[in-house]
Amino acid sequence: MKIVVASGKGGTGKSTVAANLAYSLLDRHPVTLVDCDVEVPNLHLFFDSEPETRDVFTTIPKVDTDLCTLCGDCGNFCRYGAIAVLKDRVLIFEKMCHACGGCMIVCPEKAISETPYPIGLVEDSNPLSGLRLISGFLKEGEVLAPRIIRSAKEMAEDDEIVIIDSSPGIACPVIEAMEDTDFCILVTESTPFGLHDLDLAVGVTKNLGLNTGVVINRSDGSDEEVRDYCAEADIPVLMTIPFDKEIASVQNKGGLISERMPGWKEQFACMYDECLRIGGVGI
Ligand code: SF4
Ligand code: SF4
Repeated sequence: MKIVVASGKGGTGKSTVAANLAYSLLDRHPVTLVDCDVEVPNLHLFFDSEPETRDVFTTIPKVDTDLCTLCGDCGNFCRYGAIAVLKDRVLIFEKMCHACGGCMIVCPEKAISETPYPIGLVEDSNPLSGLRLISGFLKEGEVLAPRIIRSAKEMAEDDEIVIIDSSPGIACPVIEAMEDTDFCILVTESTPFGLHDLDLAVGVTKNLGLNTGVVINRSDGSDEEVRDYCAEADIPVLMTIPFDKEIASVQNKGGLISERMPGWKEQFACMYDECLRIGGVGI
């Protein structure tokens, strides 16, 4: 079972839900938690660990100056502005390159080859018995978040229960995190902005044909609009986490309510069972 935890906007408590869900299942099965919010990964803040690190590379073009005639075809082709042909040389802007390989194909002199270029890393650790934590980190200024996300997910490919924390929003990194998962938990807050962004995220999961449920976080009890929306969209509300001083205090200290507060571990485990039931998947 692969569950992705996402949200239409940042700051809804998505990572907290992912971490609590993973912790709640450890009594019954090993769990892999994958942090695919690669621009600001934070799951490692919940758990003490000593990770092994692996660099992640993309490829960028490399020009053979002996073959290059400065014809300009590569610069004209690149839609990302990552290659510029000057009077006397070709410039490559590594951070803007999307590794499409197109400049290699259009070069009439076969003067362009690929060379590896590091864009980030993936950490792999076992912070608790039964818990594997894989975290992707995109280097500052780099744009290829989906490449790091793919690497992190590939490392968990053979694991049975995988919980993926995606980036917020609905851009490419979120789609990459959602790809090939069995269920999506969308975390929202019962505010007008929250509902607007939830609607956008639901649009994405529906397009992907992904089974979806909603967690309402920091609820002040006035959730009617979100509940009505979910009922109309035929999406179950899986859990409601109240706006509560004790919960806030545990979370502000980097703690998990499923570990520190009675009843929450069972509630998160029940939510997992409900995801299994709706997703129609074993384990
Ligand atoms: S590989 Fe693609 S994105 Fe990168 S410089 Fe060449 S054409 Fe541009
Ligand atoms: S397309 Fe090839 S030959 Fe033309 S400027 Fe680029 S690298 Fe040089």
